[in-house]
Amino acid sequence: MSKPSGPSDAAPPLSPDDWGPADLAAALEAASEWTVRYRERVHELPVFPRVGPGEIRARLPESPPREPEPLGRVLEDLDRDIVPGLTHWNHPGFFAYFSSSTRGPSVVAELLIAALGVNAMLWRTSPAATELEEVVVDWLRQALGLPVAFRGMILDTASMSSFTAVLAARHRVAPEVRETGVGSVRLASYVSEQSHSSLEKAVMAAGLGRSSVRRIPADDRFAMRVDALRDAIADDVRGGITPMWIGATIGTTSTASVDPVAEIADVAARHDAWLHVDAAYAGPAAMLPAVRPSFSGWERADSIVVNPHKWLGTSLDCSVLFFRDPRPFRETLSLTPAYLQSGDGGVTNLMELALPLGRRFRALKLWLLFRCVGTDGIAATLRRHIDLASRFARMIEADRRFGLAAPVGFGTVCFRALAGASPEESDLINRGVLERLNRGGRVFLSHTELGGRYVLRLSIGSVHTRSADVEAALEWLGEALDAELAERGRSS
Ligand code: PLP
Repeated sequence: MSKPSGPSDAAPPLSPDDWGPADLAAALEAASEWTVRYRERVHELPVFPRVGPGEIRARLPESPPREPEPLGRVLEDLDRDIVPGLTHWNHPGFFAYFSSSTRGPSVVAELLIAALGVNAMLWRTSPAATELEEVVVDWLRQALGLPVAFRGMILDTASMSSFTAVLAARHRVAPEVRETGVGSVRLASYVSEQSHSSLEKAVMAAGLGRSSVRRIPADDRFAMRVDALRDAIADDVRGGITPMWIGATIGTTSTASVDPVAEIADVAARHDAWLHVDAAYAGPAAMLPAVRPSFSGWERADSIVVNPHKWLGTSLDCSVLFFRDPRPFRETLSLTPAYLQSGDGGVTNLMELALPLGRRFRALKLWLLFRCVGTDGIAATLRRHIDLASRFARMIEADRRFGLAAPVGFGTVCFRALAGASPEESDLINRGVLERLNRGGRVFLSHTELGGRYVLRLSIGSVHTRSADVEAALEWLGEALDAELAERGRSS
């Protein structure tokens, strides 16, 4: 295959500043060959890189080249200098955080997005981009079984989606803040102590102060305690503070636990507080009828975030924010100077509903996912992941060296090695097991803390993960535990 080398004389370029068609075709062929080869062999690479801080930077030139270099050479350097410093999220042994992966259609969608280079800030800056976004968000709504009253938009991350929801909620109770700033408004927000930091950060970034966030205790299943929520709201109301926003979670970050959203919705309704549901991770599972009961009550929310880039196989970034009423979003965030006024009637200008002006054509990722995989195919992957997680949990329960540390949540299992003479020693052993396992490079797991104890976490969410990978993970966990105990002069 001929390697492209930048603009050439052979095929006259459309512009002297860019590759011509022949060069682009050769570059795409080289890049697609690289992509296929990478994905074929990713399981052979260490999932967790064996590099120290600064090692990759030291391999790279300090200044940019002045002359064009052949793409072939850049791809060689990618393999030599960059890939060894990557954590391979598409590795079948990636079980850390919320494991995610890029399905084939999303790889292609990213290429098409770049090829089109569309900015979907206004309807007129690409009518099809805005309208496709509205359509695919509605397809997702239907697949998740949400009422037709919901519409939505695609943002980059759940952090941005939740932040946007906080701004809309703030506007609903204190519209003057848009003009005058937060001043002396006294508004409180409520999240569970198990909720993701992005919820608290959203309130903080909205200028309302971290101290206005009430971290409601969770029960022994790591779900928000509604009695404690009621008490916290009652305290605030007595103190003249308005309950503004409740952030409930379906699929918390540590254990994938589920807050009792239906009961929380009752509390929110009683106090006219905005109910936001963070289903960034677990949201896609609502496609499965058997799992749908976990989502009971989310249809009553004011806003919901679901991240296709976590468990649906689209590449980062793709976060869908559903909402019932676009007005508080528009009223608080729309600021349209003359150069952005279009005069188009009956259209949605998505930039008016959120903070960013520029908007990537992310709808293509969902479009290709739905078109090329179909809702049955997507559901089958989700079901397989949940089954694999249950299987792993059963293997843990059957293995006297390990024990579950929380109920299994969707595709996520929290567990511990049952070793150590004291809780502190047990924590050190578990930490040692995780570090050893990850250094091995065959699987990558992460940890969390529950009840003050160090807990191991295995999350199954990659389209590339097979049952053999999950079985191997337990085998290597056992080996890592044996080695850790041997070093400490103990046996399992
Ligand atoms: N919500 C939950 C439950 C999460 O687990 C995470 C990240 O893992 C987030 C929100 C933040 O997601 P993002 O990286 O899209 O901001």
